Amino acid sequence: MRKGIVALELDSKDGPSPVYIKLNAPAHSVWLGGAEGYTYDLEGRPFAAFFNERRFRRALDGRVIETVWVTGARGLRHRRVRLLEGEEKSGLLRRFRERVQPVYAAVSAGRYRLRKTGHPHEIQPDRDALRQLLQTIFAWDDARLAADVVAFHRVYRPVSILPPDQYLALYIQMTLGCYYNRCVFCDFYRDRPYRELDDAGFLRHLEAVEHYFGHAIRMRKTLFLGDANALHMPADALLRRFEILNQRYRIGRRAADDRLAFSGIYSFIDAFTGAHLSRDVLTQLTRLGLRRVYLGFETGHDPLRHLLQKPGKTQQVIEAVQNLKQAGVCVGVILLNGIGGRTFFETHLRDSLAALQAMPLDAQDMIYLSDLMVCEDSDYRTVAQRQGWDLLSAEELHAQRQQWLRALRSDERLRHVKVANYDIREFVY
Ligand code: SF4
Repeated sequence: MRKGIVALELDSKDGPSPVYIKLNAPAHSVWLGGAEGYTYDLEGRPFAAFFNERRFRRALDGRVIETVWVTGARGLRHRRVRLLEGEEKSGLLRRFRERVQPVYAAVSAGRYRLRKTGHPHEIQPDRDALRQLLQTIFAWDDARLAADVVAFHRVYRPVSILPPDQYLALYIQMTLGCYYNRCVFCDFYRDRPYRELDDAGFLRHLEAVEHYFGHAIRMRKTLFLGDANALHMPADALLRRFEILNQRYRIGRRAADDRLAFSGIYSFIDAFTGAHLSRDVLTQLTRLGLRRVYLGFETGHDPLRHLLQKPGKTQQVIEAVQNLKQAGVCVGVILLNGIGGRTFFETHLRDSLAALQAMPLDAQDMIYLSDLMVCEDSDYRTVAQRQGWDLLSAEELHAQRQQWLRALRSDERLRHVKVANYDIREFVY
């Protein structure tokens, strides 16, 4: 069925009306009466829900998070993110079916009228097409969802994190884990040793990914190469992987054909890899679709970097960005808001800002501010206790963020660079 919006009038006994169904754009959504909506991927898997001013997102690994705006101390508005468990989670997942069941029943019985909305993308599908679409959604019962989670884990090791603008990327686990894996604040990849897939393994992974997603792959507009430093592999192997991707997919602005299309290739990168990839290799990667890399800079204050066991000095990060930019690769520079507590509050800001000023960033690049999150058993907590660092309170984190924003907006060289929030709690794949 083609992309568009359809509006249905139902009888009052069949539930809220009108019902708006958005098809193939690039997921399916069903809105019941305007303030309650459910989104499903193109295979019909529950994807997101919105009701009572609360947002929910179901991950492919079966987790469900709720994100809601709340007002905290001193009237500060912030997003609260919570993992749903037990009956609350199963109830939410059932809701994806139960709330569309009356619509499905009404359409099946022909108890509806198509409503003209004047929307430019309005479509008027016949009853069979509508019934078939709702049936696709309705077919995802508990057993099928559970089996899908198992299928997902056969294809992927945990997808630990993506940058906020890549949450809807097609994740390709070209390497596993982080070859360094020792930064004290990071536990994303502690569960796996670093490994690179060989050519055959890479092809098998691509086939498995395509098979798993099915039609829902069309919701994914970019390719993200994981895990933490996929571009670290030897240059000839790296170029071969990019060639394979280009044979298989249409990447960037190439003439349309029947291959799956993606707007570009993205990846995390570390300072060491960013500084040492040769200009020639980087230029070839750019020609093969590499658009942006995301660099966990964290802080430009070298004594703090040392205590955090962050590899590379600030100057090396600056050189990595220069190298990447000269080859035409955009960068996303990630800074940790609140790292080093009150002890480093000023020096972290001062030296990080000076480093950003030394980077040739432009309007194609991004700066991400990510609040430091510290779990109970993290190495960061141990180091912080040993060094006598306090964790910043919510108000202090807010204050440091405001200082960042003011400094970045008022700086002649940096004011054109987009700045975005990077809340790692909100990520699920
Ligand atoms: S912050 Fe990056 S380099 Fe450091 S351990 Fe985590 S993934 Fe590896």
